[in-house]
Amino acid sequence: MNIKVVDPPELLGLNKFNIDEEEPHILLDKTICETCKEKPCLVVCPAVLYKLGKNGEIMFDYAGCLECGTCRLMCKNKGIIKWEYPRGTFGVSFRSS
Ligand code: SF4
Repeated sequence: MNIKVVDPPELLGLNKFNIDEEEPHILLDKTICETCKEKPCLVVCPAVLYKLGKNGEIMFDYAGCLECGTCRLMCKNKGIIKWEYPRGTFGVSFRSS
């Protein structure tokens, strides 16, 4: 049996994204994020799209989103004020090869 093992970053790199530049499918209210002590988004996003800025602010870019919804579920303070699937034809296309 010939099994090709691909590491997760390489596998994620195979995905294709059609980014909707006009209408982000995820929006944050960063004034709410500022008050969040736990900031679970920093650790739960499998695409590592949430990052901490130099002044402790949340930095986020929806490009590269895998549409898993984990951030929406884990955001207890409701700093994510909009989470929708991208409009038709936009978003991720999962690839395995
Ligand atoms: S939906 Fe998933 S991949 Fe997209 S930003 Fe949230 S946690 Fe990250």
